[in-house]
Amino acid sequence: MHAEANILTISTIDQMQQESARLLDAGKTIAFVPTMGWLHEGHLALMREGRKHGDTLIVSIFVNPTQFGPTEDFQDYPRDLDRDVTLAKSVGVDVIFAPEAKAMYDKAYQTHVDLEMLPRHLCGPSRPGHFRGVATVVTKLFNIVRPQVAFFGEKDYQQLVIIRRMVRDLNLDIRVIGVPTVRESDGLAMSSRNTYLSEEERRSARSLFQSLQQAQDSLAEGITVAGELIHGASEFIGSKPHVQIDYIAICDPETLEDVDRVEGPTLMALAVRVGKTRLIDNAILKPMED
Ligand code: AMP
Repeated sequence: MHAEANILTISTIDQMQQESARLLDAGKTIAFVPTMGWLHEGHLALMREGRKHGDTLIVSIFVNPTQFGPTEDFQDYPRDLDRDVTLAKSVGVDVIFAPEAKAMYDKAYQTHVDLEMLPRHLCGPSRPGHFRGVATVVTKLFNIVRPQVAFFGEKDYQQLVIIRRMVRDLNLDIRVIGVPTVRESDGLAMSSRNTYLSEEERRSARSLFQSLQQAQDSLAEGITVAGELIHGASEFIGSKPHVQIDYIAICDPETLEDVDRVEGPTLMALAVRVGKTRLIDNAILKPMED
C-alpha cells in the first residue's frame, strides 16, 4: 500500500546519493520524475506512470535558477513544499528530493550541458540559455538520483526531445519515457503557471488547445500546407483578448525543423503570452490515411 507508506524528504545532495546507493545495492530499480513543484494532475500522471516502472519512485522538486532568464518568473514561481509532499504521497512517491540552489550550484560552478541544434528551435530563441539550464540540471539530477527510468511530459515537447537526445549523446543508461499532456476539462494544458492567469486571461488561454484541434480538423479537410494551418491558428488566437503570440510552428517531431507540408505525423507547437504569463502547448498532427 504505497499511498499509506511513509515518504522520505531529502534536502541534501549527500543524503540523496547515499539513499540511491543503498537502493541500488539492494537491487532496487529507481524511477525518477524531475519537477519544479507546485504539483498538479500533470505531474501526478508522471508519478503514477513512474510508480508502475520502478521499485522506488523518487521525485525531485527544484525550481532551477539556471533555466530562467533574467526577466523571467524565477522569484515569483509558486512554491509550497508541504502541499507538494502531501500530493506526492497520495500517488505513492517514496522519496522527495528538494535540494537548495546554493548546494546545486556553488559559487565557483562552471560546467554546463549544451546541445547544438535542438535548442535553436521553438522556445529557444525567446528563452536564451533555457535549455542549457534544463539539460544541465537534469544531468546533475540523474547523477545524484541514479535512476534506471525517468519520466517527462509531452507538454514540454522540446524538452522531452532534448533530454532523449542528450541521454543518447552522453550514453546515459537511463530509459526516458514521455507521458501525454494532462488537460483541464476545457482543454487547457495543466501548468503550474496557470495559477498566474486572471479569469479573463484563463478564457483566452483556451484558444491554444482549440487552435491545435482546429488545425487537426483543417488537416482532415485536406489542408496540408503548414503556412495555411499556422495562419488559421494565428488568426484564431490573435482574436482573443490579452494574447501575444510568441510562435506557432509546424515541424519535424524529431529534429524540430520547420516543414512546409504535413505529410506524416508532424509536431504543431505554440507559445503564447496571455497577459504576463507565457503558455505553451503542442499536438502531433496526423494526416488522413490515403
Ligand atoms: P515542471 O514542474 O513544469 O518543470 O514539470 C515537470 C514535469 O512535468 C515535466 O516533465 C513536464 O513536462 C511535466 N508536465 C508539466 N505539465 C504537464 C501536463 N499538463 N501534462 C503532462 N506532463 C506535464
